[in-house]
Amino acid sequence: MPYIYILPIENDPSPWIENLEKSIHRTFGYYSKLASPDICLEKTFDMKRMQYNSSQILLQMIASPPPDAEKILGIVNIDLFIPILTFVFGEAQLRGIGSIVSLHRLNNKFYGLPEDKELLSERLVKEAIHELGHNFGLVHCANQECVMKSSTYVEDIDHKSVEMCDNCRRELRSL
Ligand SMILES: [Zn+2]
Ligand SMILES: [Zn+2]
Repeated sequence: MPYIYILPIENDPSPWIENLEKSIHRTFGYYSKLASPDICLEKTFDMKRMQYNSSQILLQMIASPPPDAEKILGIVNIDLFIPILTFVFGEAQLRGIGSIVSLHRLNNKFYGLPEDKELLSERLVKEAIHELGHNFGLVHCANQECVMKSSTYVEDIDHKSVEMCDNCRRELRSL
C-alpha cells in the first residue's frame, strides 16, 4: 500500500502533524508515514542570499525513495529560495514524487507578530496540500478560495481555504 511520506527536516512535527495527516487523507485518500531522512541542509545554503536552495533539498529528499512512497513531502523551518524568485513558501515537482514546504515565512514571528501555533499549522497544511496537488498533476487555479490558488504573500494563504474547489477536485479524480 502506497503512502505519502512526511519528512520533518530539523524541526519538531508535533504541533502540526495530526492536522496535516488528516487533511492529506481527506484530500488525496492516502495515509501518511513519518520518516527522518539524512538530509544535509548546510550543503544547500547560499552565502550571498543567506537562504537555502529549495530544489537542492528536494533532490536530496528523493534520492532514494522508499518503495512504498507515493509522494515525499519535506517540511523545513528555514528560508527557501529558487534562483528566479526572492523566496518561496514551498516547491513541488509537477507530476513528480517530491515537494517541500517551509514554516519559516508562515510563522507570525517572521512578520514581527506574536506567535500563533494554530494559524501556523493551518498555513502549513494549506501549503502542503497545494504542493502535493502539483505532485498529483494539478496546476494553479484562479478560484480565490481554492487551495490550488497561488500565494505570493502570507495574506493570500490566509485568504484561501484548505479545500480544493469543485473543478480541481474533479481534475484530481481524472488524473
Ligand atoms: Zn503552486
Ligand atoms: Zn481550484
